[in-house]
Amino acid sequence: MSALYPIAPAITPVGRFAPSPTGPLHFGSLVAALGSWLDARSRRGRWLLRIEDVDTPRIVPGADRTIIADLARFGLEWDGEIIWQSQRGDRYRAVLDRLRESGLAYPCACSRKEIADSTTLRARDGALRYPGTCRTGLPPGRDARAWRVRTTPGQVCFDDALQGRVCEDIEREVGDFVLLRADGVWAYQLAVVVDDAEQGVNEIVRGADLLDSTPRQLFLQRLLGYLQPDYLHLPVAGNQAGEKLSKQTLALAVAEQPAPLALSDAFAFLGHDLPADLRGAPVRAQLDWGLAHWARPRLPRNAMAPAPAWSAVQRA
Ligand code: GLU
Repeated sequence: MSALYPIAPAITPVGRFAPSPTGPLHFGSLVAALGSWLDARSRRGRWLLRIEDVDTPRIVPGADRTIIADLARFGLEWDGEIIWQSQRGDRYRAVLDRLRESGLAYPCACSRKEIADSTTLRARDGALRYPGTCRTGLPPGRDARAWRVRTTPGQVCFDDALQGRVCEDIEREVGDFVLLRADGVWAYQLAVVVDDAEQGVNEIVRGADLLDSTPRQLFLQRLLGYLQPDYLHLPVAGNQAGEKLSKQTLALAVAEQPAPLALSDAFAFLGHDLPADLRGAPVRAQLDWGLAHWARPRLPRNAMAPAPAWSAVQRA
């Protein structure tokens, strides 16, 4: 017998972790993985793993395998097949073709130096605003190097679940941004938007260092007619010098620390201090507690917070 009342379909949260394999998992990436895993799994959602290895010059061979092994040691299990962006060039090409055909993407001949010589305006992430030199066509005798998206004026806004409302006028502040780089590498902004949409990701939990990228991603989602996911940008782990932990700032691999201790520190970083008897307990017991106690209001709202001393090389 059919139900008397139509039952609204419940939307299953679909989250993901999308590391760039530029080195092993460090404390900052463990925090992002744990936060997105708990946020999706505590509501019986799915959690996907995608290796963002498009930026080939920065990729460290084998780092993907190390990250996958690290996640398994922390008990952070993913659903389905792992996706490697390096195998998805055809998809990105098809989307770029769609944008080209509708005049929304155009070829650009400008070198970095030419852009630097023609503008001093910088976006929030420090990159120079593209002055639009090739918007109306390539200068005579010049070849296409990169492909850019044609931006339009107006604020692009979203309400981040933790950081509040964020707005940016992309045309004014960033300019027409790159989709395919001069070195043939697909831009992160395009790849991430296509993959999140095609994987059905509806909740993106990641570090606040990517907050500035989000309006560009919303802009592309709207151009392409994709659904907009919800966003939650977690505080980023910073070292003694107040720099984001990364390979460049000498973050240590989490594998250097026993997994149960590193995991307890990641919980504490996210405002979820484990009860004393679970601190340093086997990872499964900690995660089970996390699934029962995860609460977004407990999360710290700052954009950066100090990482534990063990997680970064201390500099004098
Ligand atoms: N691959 C990016 C990074 O490792 C993360 C991308 C994202 O979460 O959107 O910084």
